[in-house]
Amino acid sequence: MWYFISPEVVYGLDAVTRLAQLEGKLACIITDTNMVKLGFVDKVKEQLSKAGMKINVFDGVEPDPSIETVNKGAAFLRQYKPDWVVALGGGSVMDAAKGMSAGYERPDVKVEELNPFTPLGPRTKAKLICIPTTSGTGAEATWGIILTVTGEDRKGSFGCRECTPDIALVDPAFALLMPPELTAQTGLDALTHAIEGFTSTWKNDFSDGLLLKAIQLVFQYLPRAYRDGQDMEAREKLHNAACLAGLGFINSMCAMAHATGHALGGVFHTPHGRAVALLLPYTIEFIGDAREELWAEIAYTLKLEVPKGKKAAPILAKAIRDLARSVKEPLSIKETGIPADSFNKSVEKLADNASMDFQLVTTARAPNIEETEKFFRYAYDGKSIDF
Ligand SMILES: [Zn+2]
Repeated sequence: MWYFISPEVVYGLDAVTRLAQLEGKLACIITDTNMVKLGFVDKVKEQLSKAGMKINVFDGVEPDPSIETVNKGAAFLRQYKPDWVVALGGGSVMDAAKGMSAGYERPDVKVEELNPFTPLGPRTKAKLICIPTTSGTGAEATWGIILTVTGEDRKGSFGCRECTPDIALVDPAFALLMPPELTAQTGLDALTHAIEGFTSTWKNDFSDGLLLKAIQLVFQYLPRAYRDGQDMEAREKLHNAACLAGLGFINSMCAMAHATGHALGGVFHTPHGRAVALLLPYTIEFIGDAREELWAEIAYTLKLEVPKGKKAAPILAKAIRDLARSVKEPLSIKETGIPADSFNKSVEKLADNASMDFQLVTTARAPNIEETEKFFRYAYDGKSIDF
């Protein structure tokens, strides 16, 4: 038995007005200080006030949030007892809010104990709305909660199906102020979700269409949104693509680029989208024949030419590198600025951490520990995988 889990998705310009239709007495906005500065919190407050709600704001979510921050936010929710929890921000804020909401609902369960095999029960105290301000993680549509495990140089994946938000509010107006570099990294993260979800061992009929569409939209609109952040059509299409990819991959899982990307981000603090996207083409080369038909299907969707007798995997890997280069993203670990001696000192830890990541389970050709270390060395030097 399998499930396809999804929130209500409200999308398009002015999707934010959905907030004015909510019923309840008190809303708590979970966000970060940057969202306050950009004026986005005021925009959300304005709509919630129209719904007649009182509002409290917790703006203490840091990038790559810790378990401690989630516990603080859960205590905040328990203090104010809202009917609605409104997460406003990127993946860090939305993931933290999912954990806080769980801690509000079930104070007896620790966030680090949340996993797909332990049901949490339905939300009875407050519903959860997620409003993404980046077009990448798709966290508004997923139950996953990625948190930093303090003192261990690694990120942990937590969450269970009941952590899925009730409403994903996908309004491109909130993506307009992303600087080009963030647009590039988050857009490539969405692409990585879509390609990994489409080719993981848990791929399925319900996710496939969403993921293929997301792949196509990112290739078509990311360069435009990167060049001109005010290109509203490109912003809207990318915002939709990120949510489509989120809906798809959370129901089919990601794969090796996320396992290795989490490891790289955990040790060197490489931004998530940059880490997974730079590793993605190497994983396509590594997985190779185990998914050749699917690489060909993606290439066909993207109208990439695969000459007769040639394999699609390297052609797709090249197209992804060309796209990343067009938005000025690095193509090797070395290009991210990590010095060779620091990398060499940490490469065993990178391989160890990647091998513990659940996403390797859903990789069509999972590497052993020696292969994982070799993989990182190739990706450091920018060398195509040939093993
Ligand atoms: Zn990701």
